Amino acid sequence: MTVLEGAVQQGYTVETCYSCGRPWGNGCACQFCNQMYGFSVGVVVSSAGKRLIAHLLEAVLVLVTCFVGWLIWALFTFANGQTPAKQIMGMRTVNIVTGARAGWGRMFVREVCAKSLIGFFLGWLVFPYFWLLWDKNKQQLWDKMVETTVLDDPNGLVTAQPWGAAPSLQQPQQQYQLPPSEQPTQWGDPRQGGYGQQGGYDQPGSYGQQGGYGQQGGYGQPQYPPPPPEPPRR
Ligand SMILES: [Zn+2]
Repeated sequence: MTVLEGAVQQGYTVETCYSCGRPWGNGCACQFCNQMYGFSVGVVVSSAGKRLIAHLLEAVLVLVTCFVGWLIWALFTFANGQTPAKQIMGMRTVNIVTGARAGWGRMFVREVCAKSLIGFFLGWLVFPYFWLLWDKNKQQLWDKMVETTVLDDPNGLVTAQPWGAAPSLQQPQQQYQLPPSEQPTQWGDPRQGGYGQQGGYDQPGSYGQQGGYGQQGGYGQPQYPPPPPEPPRR
């Protein structure tokens, strides 16, 4: 289940894009502006053309470094959800389930194992290399295997933390926000999920919508982000 599907399942409606305001569509990214759900405004899923260029650049890098150089380079970039070509092009592989950048192990499996397997068994069919053209989440088959897709992230907005900590995302119930002086700050940033979304512990029964700890999602349970109500101003 992707971040988007999880958010919908928890009752959030994703009808309009929080970046461009147009109808979202049915993929992980806005059908019009390619904004990726659950990520900061401006972080878009990479276009097929850019993916292709990255693929070709990767091949060139592998050749000119006799593979070994590329591999050593890649062992460093994997930790950031990148390959050498993606690093050059400001692209990043993300885990579409957690909304975080793909970690080293996932990248290693994706780049070394999954691509080799698909290339060896299905490469002769050619069409697997064009899978993202008709995939709603712009996933290649190797993306399917490790639950990833690729975003444009030249400014490094995609962190290793899952979407729950993404600074652009806001928790629901904003309409019941307390006056600034009464906001519970001892629980940390109210945007960071967890306890911050409550109306405040010190007001028993306030607003009637708090479920107490038991219904908060709490630690360890997925709690999906709603679409931010409006893009932050730059
Ligand atoms: Zn959009």
